[in-house]
Parts: sequence; structure tokens; C-alpha cells
Amino acid sequence: MTDVQTESGVLAGEQRMLIDGELRYTDSGAMFDVVHPASEEVAGQATDGTVADMERAVGAARRAFDETDWSRDLDFRYHCLIQLHEALDRNKERLRRILVTEVGCPVTVSGSQIESPIEEVEHWAEHGKAFDYLVDTGIHPTQLGPARRKIHYEPIGVVGAITPWNVPFYLNIAETVPALMAGNTVVLKPAQLTPWSGSEYGRIVAEETDIPAGVFNVVVSNANEVGAALSADPRVDMITFTGSTATGRAILAAGAATVKKTLLELGGKSAHIVLDDADFDSALPMAAMMACVMSGQSCILPSRILLPRSRYDEGLEILKTMMEGFPVGDPWTPGVMQGPQISAAQREKVLGLINSGIDSGARLITGGGVPENLPTGYYTQPTLLADVDPDARISQEEIFGPVLTVTPYDTDDEAVAIANNSIYGLSGEVSGGDLDRAFAIATRIRTGNVTINGKSHFGITSPFGGTKQSGLGRRNGDEGYREYLEAKTIGMPA
Ligand code: NAD
Repeated sequence: MTDVQTESGVLAGEQRMLIDGELRYTDSGAMFDVVHPASEEVAGQATDGTVADMERAVGAARRAFDETDWSRDLDFRYHCLIQLHEALDRNKERLRRILVTEVGCPVTVSGSQIESPIEEVEHWAEHGKAFDYLVDTGIHPTQLGPARRKIHYEPIGVVGAITPWNVPFYLNIAETVPALMAGNTVVLKPAQLTPWSGSEYGRIVAEETDIPAGVFNVVVSNANEVGAALSADPRVDMITFTGSTATGRAILAAGAATVKKTLLELGGKSAHIVLDDADFDSALPMAAMMACVMSGQSCILPSRILLPRSRYDEGLEILKTMMEGFPVGDPWTPGVMQGPQISAAQREKVLGLINSGIDSGARLITGGGVPENLPTGYYTQPTLLADVDPDARISQEEIFGPVLTVTPYDTDDEAVAIANNSIYGLSGEVSGGDLDRAFAIATRIRTGNVTINGKSHFGITSPFGGTKQSGLGRRNGDEGYREYLEAKTIGMPA
């Protein structure tokens, strides 16, 4: 393990991947750079895994599922995951520095990406231990006489987990730990921009837990074709994926030949309906903060604000004040809440979408470019656009930047129609003084999740996922655990 730490705190993570219990480099020795987005410096490197490495990892996971007791030994799995929880907790500060180095996530707001997923490992261990894997459904009449039926919940097999860069450590844990606890074996393929959040997890599993060789593998690579190889491999029974809708479609198509079970958490373009009786002083500062806090790189961010025409100017003024005062800067500095975009390409995409919005008639209220005091690093100004056409590209495409678009509406029905004018259906928000009215509107928004008056829908104990082109299936809650199990019905004499 190489520890390269500068005064600013940048940390180089584990360079090797974990395949069949061994931390190794790819055969050719090829490496790729990891760039710290706040300074644009190369922070270090990771091994550049290949399709051959992926095939080796899938072979190891297949063998570990078919030939070891992992899938049948619940007590051992519980022991391993409690060990994993303790090991991750010991490595917490190192994982945090890797997160800040790779993503540029501000230290100040890193808790939900480090502490929360580590706690979730323990949650899944306990949930899996308490789960009822054999349910007797009683006696059922059949034409050949009564039959007793039992449902046996069994692991699916080899699970391929593919993750994005925006919340890398959190999603590496969220996609793999319930799968492991349910008795599956796993191959994790982290995103190119964030290999260390995955490789470091692999190192911890290899060096600090009893998880057997082949049960958990991590293949890091700079090539999309390595993820594609995982999603097409006939030895893989299920793909769990978080990322863009375009990649989700490709994964679904790749798995069709072998009818792979596929769990997809995809893009979002969520709307926040602010009703005319809402507490603007509470709802709108919070809305602006949510847009900036991860540099807007969040799938569930309600980036489309719908304001009642009767209170439009008042709402814009509150949003503008909050965005202009937002603490943007070096993610290592305590108190900073918005860091850079993750890469130059991502910032270009964000700025291009802002300009497309202005070209389509939107009014720039604040921001729109690069902060003058931050010429180095991929920073973007918190940006507010008003009078945004609900059909414009900027209302329809995911921005993934610190940008809020504001559209006025006249009636509740119109607000609901604008909110639902999207191919996405991940999340949404309603703010209002009358809870019954706000709740009724929440039920009409066609998404998997809705927050009312800032009370978050998101948490480990509640199902989370998308409708429409935002995904298939659910993470979290008991529904999320069952995704990694098959229900086998066994009929037997009564
Ligand atoms: P992405 O789709 O470009 O990449 C995600 C992963 O897929 C990476 O590991 C990448 O290497 C891999 N990949 C790329 N092409 C592939 C292919 N053909 N086959 C298999 N794997 C392939 O997404 P991103 O840019 O890393 O992440 C941002 C996206 O993730 C946004 O759209 C965001 O909304 C979404 N996201 C969704 C959620 C959610 O819970 N719904 C959470 C976080 C992020």
C-alpha cells in the first residue's frame, strides 16, 4: 500500500485490485491516473484492469458460489460482515481522505458518504441475520389433493456490481453488502474517476476480514468495456448498477441474452413543487443548499424548482441570496460546502447546459460561469436560472452541477404536469403549509420517492428507487434486501 499524502491532505489509495483473494496489478503493468479535481494535480495511479482480469474475477466468484459454503453459512457471513464493519470503521479517516481526493467532496459534508455507509454494513448484517429465509405458507388445495407449500429464500448467485463516481464509497457498499449478506458472491467494478474508493475496499476485505477468496472481487479499470464484459458474462446471474440511464440501457441489453436479473438505479431530473402556502424562508434556502452541496452531482437533487406565479419574485430573491453566499472552495477547508466538479469534462458539460438554457430564453439570475477566485480546480459558480421553459433541454437533461432552474406555474394541476414532464422518475419534493394538500400532490408525482417539507425520503430502512427511466427495483428497506434473493416455492405432502 502506498501512502502519498501532501500537506493539503490528498491521499493516494490502493493501486491494486482484488481478484480471487489476491491484491494484484494487471499483467501488463498498465496504470491510469487519478486526478484531484480541486487542484488538477495527479494524486496517484491505479492498475488498469482488462477484460481478461474481469473474466478471472467472474470465474473466482462463480467458483466461490458453486463450491464453497458461503451461500449456505449464514453465521459465517454474519461474522465476516461484522468484521468488515469494524475494519471499515478503523479505516474511516483514510477512506474519507480518498473520497475528498478522488471526488473533491468537501470534508465538512463527507459524513453521509463515509459514516453512513459504514453504519449500513452493520445494519445489513443484522437485517440478514434476522431475515426469515423459510416461510411455511400452509396447506393449499390442488386437483391432486392438499399440498403444503414453503417458500425458501435463496441467494441468486454471482452478482456483478457496477458503480458511478458521484458517491463512490457509499454506492460500493450499498450495492455489495446486502448482496454478500444474502449469500451471493460479488464482482465490483468501480467508476474510472474513482477507482480507489473501490480498490481500498478490496484491500480492507483482503487484509482485515475472513471473507474467503473469490467471494468478493474488485476490478478497477479505465475502460468501459470491462464493465460491459461483466454485464454480458453468462456466469453472472445478476447485475446491480447505479449510473446514467444511457449505460443502464446498455447493461439491460447486454444481460438480455442470458436473462440476467438487473437492478438499476439511474438518472434523475427531480422537481420541487413549492406551493403558495409554503414557508419560503425554510424551503428555499434548503433547496439552494441541496443544489450546491455536492456540486450538484446528486441523482436525487430536486434541480427544477416550480414556484407559484403569485410569489415568484419573492422566491427568486431568497434563492439568489442563498446561492450568492454559498461557501464554495477548497474541499479540505472546514466550513466549505461546495467543492469542484469531478472533472474538466463534467464542468464543460454543466457550463454547456447553462448556456443552452440561456439560449432557450432562460434568465440568468446569478452565477453561470467559473468563480473568479478559483481559477484552478474544476469549480462552477452556484447558478440560478429563471423563466425556464419546461420543454427546454436544460429542463429535460440531467445537469449534475450546482444549478437550479426555476419555472413559474399558476395551478396545482399545472405544477404536477410540469413535474411529470420528464423521462425520469427518481425523486421529488413538495413544500406547503397544508400537509394534506402537499401529501395529495406527492402521490401524483410519478417518481419512486418524494420529500415533503424537507423531511427526507432517503434512508437505509425505506425502499429507494426510480420509476420510468430512472430505474428498476429498489435498494434499502426489506425490499432492497429481497432484491438479492430468489423466492423458491417448494410443494410437499401436507
Ligand atoms: P455512467 O453510467 O457513465 O457510469 C457508471 C458506471 O458504469 C461506471 O463504473 C462505468 O465504468 C460503467 N460503464 C460505462 N459503460 C458501461 C457499459 N457499456 N457496460 C457496463 N458498465 C459500463 O455514470 P457516471 O457518469 O459514473 O455517474 C453519474 C450518473 O449516475 C448520473 O446519471 C446519476 O444520476 C447516476 N446516479 C444514480 C443514482 C441513483 O441512485 N439513481 C445514484 C448516483 C448516481
